Amino acid sequence: MARTTALPGWSSARAQFLHSLLSDDYRPEHLSCLLWPRAHPPLMAERRNALILSRVRALSLVFAVLTLLWITIDAVTLPARTAALLALARVAASGAFFLLAGATRRVSSLRRVYGTLMAFYAVPTLFYFASLLLLHQAGMSRTAEVALHAYGVLPVVAMAGLGVFPLTIVETAIFAAPIVIGELLALRFHLGAFLPGGAADALWLLVLMAGIALVVAVSQLGFALALVGQSLQDRLTGCYSRASITELLELHFNVSARFGSPLAVAFVDLDEFKAINDQHGHDAGDRVLAEAASRIRAVLRGADCVGRWGGEEFLVVLPGKTAAAAMQCMETIRSRGLGLRPAGQALTGSVGVAERITDGCSAWPSLVRIADQRMYAAKGAGRNCIVGPLRERPSEPVLNAAALMHNCVHP
Ligand code: GH3
Ligand code: MG
Ligand code: MG
Repeated sequence: MARTTALPGWSSARAQFLHSLLSDDYRPEHLSCLLWPRAHPPLMAERRNALILSRVRALSLVFAVLTLLWITIDAVTLPARTAALLALARVAASGAFFLLAGATRRVSSLRRVYGTLMAFYAVPTLFYFASLLLLHQAGMSRTAEVALHAYGVLPVVAMAGLGVFPLTIVETAIFAAPIVIGELLALRFHLGAFLPGGAADALWLLVLMAGIALVVAVSQLGFALALVGQSLQDRLTGCYSRASITELLELHFNVSARFGSPLAVAFVDLDEFKAINDQHGHDAGDRVLAEAASRIRAVLRGADCVGRWGGEEFLVVLPGKTAAAAMQCMETIRSRGLGLRPAGQALTGSVGVAERITDGCSAWPSLVRIADQRMYAAKGAGRNCIVGPLRERPSEPVLNAAALMHNCVHP
């Protein structure tokens, strides 16, 4: 289903080694997903965005409360003026965290997820520098060491926090870099020289924590993607489940309507499938069904995807394909064959194709309905054929079986 590729140029031995470091649920061909988010199939990307946003909100709430509570420790350990100024900084930081915690729950784009993550990291970073400046100026007593320790580990906590999010290798590196650079700047300008252990120790700890955060974030991502993949999948055929193909179709329909690009769907129903069950048993039927699904998938490319709509019916979603291109794609599937029946004859299917622009569909359900009606027209036309829109009147949806037969592609 989720068709991602292994890292280009990587030997299978290297891919196997990397795979051995991950959960058993994760397949080696998904390694590119761990590197860079562009490799994530749309539904996985959406689930991951939602996961990251919900974790930002949860952590923001925790930090909002803890940041405020620490005011009391500053008050008893630090000079009164420094503690008061820090309290102001803490109230501001806590307010920002509360705002982030209350941020909208709506699942949105990767750009928005990055924006939220950046805001989430900007708060402790700004607070850290403000606190360094305030503490730098103040003359510290020995009793202040408790509080100073806590300020010293702030960047380490921020770095460890990266492991909470299911991020790719590139994303973790991008978010870790400013934390390390910030610490380098603090070291360069001797801002953290008053900290117990000094800034150099903190820098080493930070680099160590970056490595741990990378392993945690990436293995978490692998696990999350494997679980999401399983939840989207139909177990028998390995295609998308009906719920997930519907979600994908809706997603592609909205994109297609917004950009005016074509979007085709094809409804495939296996011919005389019940006879297989009746004559050879349900298990033999299952094997034939799974083989037919893998034959359909083998022809699909790029953003094309297929879901199991019902028993032995599949819905193929072809983003960016015109009616003619979709007919051609389905003809390739039909001509290559859907596998063999247990007795050795070719397994065939009847196909109905519909396209958003050609059929003038304003919502995805009508696209599916037209493709379904055309699939029935293909059955009526003798099975093992494809029925699509009429080319003579491209703006009108064709729902008449007799007219549809003009476009029926017979073997
Ligand atoms: P037609 O060419 O008109 O489509 O004939 P058909 O026999 O394929 O159509 P029908 O809808 O009568 O039969 C579909 C059969 O698919 C009925 C059901 O037993 C079988 N089926 C549905 N789901 C599964 C499944 O998961 N496994 C197996 N083995 N059979 C299934
Ligand atoms: Mg059927
Ligand atoms: Mg059938």
